Amino acid sequence: MAGRAAGTVGGGRDNDASCRCGGHGAAGGLAGGGPVMVVQAYRFALDPSPAQQRALVSHAGRARFAWNWGLARCQERYAADGKWHSGAELHKLWNAAKKADQGLAWWGENSKCAYQESFRDLDRALREFTRSKNGQRRGKRLGFPRYKKRGRCRDSFRFTGRIRCDRATVTLPRLGTIRTHESTRKLARRLEDGSARILSATVSRTAQRWHVSFTVEVERDMPGRHARPGSVIGIDLGVKTLLTGADDEGHLISVAGPKPLGSALRKLRRASRAHSRKQPGSANRRRSAARLARIHARVASVRADALHKASTSLARRYETVVAEDLNVAGMTRNRRLARAVYDQGFGQARRMLAYKTAWNGGTLILADRWYASSKTCSGCGAVKAKLPLAERTYQCERCGLILDRDVNAARNLRQLAASGAERITACGGTIRPGRAGHVLVKQEPGTADAGKTGTVPNQCGTAA
Ligand SMILES: [Zn+2]
Repeated sequence: MAGRAAGTVGGGRDNDASCRCGGHGAAGGLAGGGPVMVVQAYRFALDPSPAQQRALVSHAGRARFAWNWGLARCQERYAADGKWHSGAELHKLWNAAKKADQGLAWWGENSKCAYQESFRDLDRALREFTRSKNGQRRGKRLGFPRYKKRGRCRDSFRFTGRIRCDRATVTLPRLGTIRTHESTRKLARRLEDGSARILSATVSRTAQRWHVSFTVEVERDMPGRHARPGSVIGIDLGVKTLLTGADDEGHLISVAGPKPLGSALRKLRRASRAHSRKQPGSANRRRSAARLARIHARVASVRADALHKASTSLARRYETVVAEDLNVAGMTRNRRLARAVYDQGFGQARRMLAYKTAWNGGTLILADRWYASSKTCSGCGAVKAKLPLAERTYQCERCGLILDRDVNAARNLRQLAASGAERITACGGTIRPGRAGHVLVKQEPGTADAGKTGTVPNQCGTAA
């Protein structure tokens, strides 16, 4: 298969590829098109042998130890001279300590990468904390990094260095070759033909299942123009209906949540009620927590899969996708289960749409979070003071429009793009040159100017 043209994965289902964090993998606004290096994540479930499983647990435990050890050193230093240690300084201190301290004699059992990357993470966490404290970081205020406790934190560690991914196996330092639970064909093919390079591998556990997530630099063919220039769709994301869209030709698109999602959600609700009745600290409670985590993981993966399919098809068909920007950080403390799941999916959908539209030569546009897409009439522009979530139909008192609530919101969002109102933010973001001359893209959501109101032109009676 060597020699395959780069970009064949581009429009595929990308079930195994996802954007790691807010900003990677998109290159919106890049004129001309052509191959561009983007950073992308590929995640695979692992099938380790019992011995490998023990080694995974050991690495995660030691990585946690290194984090806590580094945090203690930083606090000591801060008490002395008001500064933290950097990641590199911690690594040096560690190298001295591990030889001097008999209690750390186990250090050689695991890859040194795991410790080093923990120090790097701690370094980053401390810096982000300082930035947040000084008001230089957007989003929710960050707390001071905490000590990690077994069972209370995510089991994870990261490798850089010699990492391989072949079809159906991955090879990691110290751990050796581990079988993957799912096919790694897409990534392996890219590695074979030289259109991808692995930067790092993060191994983590979600409800008893170990996963590896590769951060990969991938060569992607970016079209200079979208295949259907001028096409626009406004989308509204929901819980029962995954997504409702209204496009520029008057078509309605409704993507129902997949059936397994509905049943998994019901199971989740039941399990979380059962869990809350268990005695804290009991074996029963531990068992029900494990069960709950398993169902949560299932819901997340079913939902992610459906979102991947929907976002891929939207990005291919529409040059401009308009969605709502929600204050995701402020919503995570929501107590309602369906809302919590929805919030999680929303951030995910937004990231997927941002990079997939860019891969297809389009853009994702976000309406600013104060724009009342649900409360505004898509016919006459009247804005309701209140619209309870339970009200599934929009009824306008001014022009008499009666429309499904989600469809009304989707139409408003579509019209927002057309009207050129300033309540929108292009999610393609600013381009800054990354390492080695590559182009990395930083997404900057939620920065729209909230000064102007998002009234839309009078279009009562347009295609439903
Ligand atoms: Zn109206």
